Amino acid sequence: MFDPYTGEDLSLGRVKERSPGARAGLEAPRYCESCGRRMVVRINPMGWEATCSRHGEIAG
Ligand SMILES: [Zn+2]
Repeated sequence: MFDPYTGEDLSLGRVKERSPGARAGLEAPRYCESCGRRMVVRINPMGWEATCSRHGEIAG
């Protein structure tokens, strides 16, 4: 598992603090939780869409 906002490997323990917006769930995730790859994120009026090149699309 990886932190979707900081891209950290959570098995190693959390080092970085999430931003206040990320903690509140207002920001789109930038990293795939499954593999930690950086995702392509698109913001739209309904929310956001993030795409991992390996795991596909995650909608929020
Ligand atoms: Zn992935």
